[in-house]
Amino acid sequence: MQRQQSEALFEEAKRYFPGGVNSPVRAFRSVGGTPLFFEKGDGCHVWDADGQRYIDFCCSWGPLILGHNHAKVREAIVDAVGLGTSFGAPTRKENELAKLILENNRYIEMIRFVSSGTEAVMSAIRLARGVTGRPLVIKFEGCYHGHVDALLVKAGSGLSTFGISSSAGIPEAVANDTIVVPLNDRRALEVAISDYAHDIAAVIIEPIPANNGLLLQTKEYLEFLRDITRRHGILLIFDEVISGFRVGFSGAAGYYDIRPDIITYGKIIGGGMPVGAYGASRDIMRHIAPEGDVYQAGTLSGNPVAMAAGRAQLTECLQPDFYQDQAQRTEAFVGRLNRFAVAQQIPFKVFSIGSIFWFAFTAKEAIRSSDEIDPKSMEHFRALHKVLLERGIYLGPSGYEVGFVSSAHTEAVLSEAAGLIEAALAAVFNRSAEGVA
Ligand code: PLP
Repeated sequence: MQRQQSEALFEEAKRYFPGGVNSPVRAFRSVGGTPLFFEKGDGCHVWDADGQRYIDFCCSWGPLILGHNHAKVREAIVDAVGLGTSFGAPTRKENELAKLILENNRYIEMIRFVSSGTEAVMSAIRLARGVTGRPLVIKFEGCYHGHVDALLVKAGSGLSTFGISSSAGIPEAVANDTIVVPLNDRRALEVAISDYAHDIAAVIIEPIPANNGLLLQTKEYLEFLRDITRRHGILLIFDEVISGFRVGFSGAAGYYDIRPDIITYGKIIGGGMPVGAYGASRDIMRHIAPEGDVYQAGTLSGNPVAMAAGRAQLTECLQPDFYQDQAQRTEAFVGRLNRFAVAQQIPFKVFSIGSIFWFAFTAKEAIRSSDEIDPKSMEHFRALHKVLLERGIYLGPSGYEVGFVSSAHTEAVLSEAAGLIEAALAAVFNRSAEGVA
């Protein structure tokens, strides 16, 4: 595999950016080696600066549910650019995207567009505090909600504890406004709520936790969250930056049929452009300025080019059977890999939901909380990632990250990818390539 161009670009980038990147995971520190610099993407493929092609399962960390360079999205972007890139004033395009979303998602009645998932979550937390007049937030260990100060916290020791900041630069006072509890642990949440019920504004969860492995929760557990928060006047926030428009048009709320109080979106909603959003009932949303007293604003919020991209992409997602087809192709791919691992007695299992999958190196049937992940298993991911790059498959460069299947990943491509992954697993675990397609 050629790496000269990527290596030269990375050396140059290190002079400009901390660690040579504009977002940490891109630096390849978890898998080692030089990050690939990409030149081009088309469908389910990407090309690096050395001209090599890869089947892409990162899909820009989720936004590209139609794959790269989808004709309808590209045309919508080009048309919008021709009319002006930003006005800082309302445009018809904001109405069009909002209408499309609200008419097809019965879990929210109003929406506000922002420019990233982080901004959506930050604003949702402020809204929850504004509505309830309470200061504290409960989050779950193993859920990521962007780099919002109050949520960049990890658990201390104990069942439910005030957060310890997981980044320098976050004052203790800010971390102390967040209580961290383990996922899938009813007792921990009950304890936190009984201790602080009247001070808790919100419980925030990724209903499909997909930032620390894929820690699928049961529907019963999510219903428990809905019930306990409702009983105590606490707002339930579903952070659907990944799951929104991914496991169905109405995201995890629709998948589990649970109505949270506030939902945050990002990634897919912008068609590959920088967009985030948060939505809720009319009653809750009227607290936002200028209607209410919760301030939130943005120079580029509702940007017309981004709105056009989002609308084009979401229109495709609304085609009949779009999500069923995504899930079926993903299940076939995942099922084949799991059967291979069993046959070869490799401690490897792919967990999946809809078109999200996660490669886990485990014999466990289910993994529902972050402490069930063996950190040592990441060594296997590191080895697999390296072999897969050599064989033309690009996964996000961390074993804790999930992969995504787009509509451009056809059955044929997924079958090709499965064969390459089986061969790579056989190489990493020293098995014979018998049964490898
Ligand atoms: N929330 C979740 C669940 C995410 O996965 C992410 C990013 O991966 C964010 C929030 C932050 O979004 P962004 O990176 O657009 O700021």
